[in-house]
Amino acid sequence: MGPYSIGVDLGGTNLRAAAVDPDGQILDRVSVRPAFDQGPEKVVDDIAQAIQTVRARVGLPDLRGVGIGVPGFIDIEAGVILGAANLPGFQGFPIRDEIQKRLGTPIVLENDANAAALGEMWMGAGKNVKDLILITLGTGIGGGIVLNGKVLHGFLGMAGEFGHMTVFPDGNPCGCGNCGCLEKHASATAIAAMGRMMHFGGEDCADVTAKRVYELALSGNDRAILVFESVGRALGIAIATLINIFNFPLYLLMGGPLPAWDLFAPEMFHEVNRRSFTFARTGTRIEKAALGADAGLYGAAYLPFQRETDPDRTHVLART
Ligand SMILES: [Zn+2]
Repeated sequence: MGPYSIGVDLGGTNLRAAAVDPDGQILDRVSVRPAFDQGPEKVVDDIAQAIQTVRARVGLPDLRGVGIGVPGFIDIEAGVILGAANLPGFQGFPIRDEIQKRLGTPIVLENDANAAALGEMWMGAGKNVKDLILITLGTGIGGGIVLNGKVLHGFLGMAGEFGHMTVFPDGNPCGCGNCGCLEKHASATAIAAMGRMMHFGGEDCADVTAKRVYELALSGNDRAILVFESVGRALGIAIATLINIFNFPLYLLMGGPLPAWDLFAPEMFHEVNRRSFTFARTGTRIEKAALGADAGLYGAAYLPFQRETDPDRTHVLART
């Protein structure tokens, strides 16, 4: 009959919610598809409904709060989504207060990649450390910085935008306005783009996915192997820079391209070794994240517990 929290991972297509106890045991979980096409009010109803479902099924009285990982740029203090490409109509929407109104329980918001970093620290590959960086490889590249057990937000909440670190000064142009951003050279999208440039789509120029490039590399295709070496080089340059700045003990990678670890990691480690004195001479670790898609769920569930124990908690205090 102990306390528990509910973590919510709001994806672009589905929503997952899990009740988690303070030891990180998942008590119950649901996955639903909110009606994203029907506007924020309806989506918030669906989120509240999913949380209520979990709450009812767990049936314990001591719910300490709900943490929600949101895919976008949020004003944590105001509880408002400032911008989210995957959540149309949510710009400026007071998501925290709207959900709180429906549930009557404290809500803590966090960016989803930051939540994933926190989740890895709490129950994943970072269990033994308080300082880590998580880099998420997907359509783009994002991530989170956990400093002394807490997410580092930066003054606007924009810290941890690893995807836009310059890794090649005259590299591929990026939508952000820069050239040579990490995500233009190491994301799943970049892998697919390199595959297209190498005409892996064949005579009919069929669409090439990152998975296709991966399969070709596994089968021994030299040019596909080069793609992953290039990815490793870009990641290595970026991670060496992070190590030199932060001197954290642990840097984690997660996301779709992770199965290709053996293809990109040797080049990545080679680059980090030659660009980071600290890495070459200490036990600094670069590893795969452990929780996969659940990292964000754990991190979101951790937020209400953290808020209770964190003396400097005003930045995450829900307005009740
Ligand atoms: Zn960029």
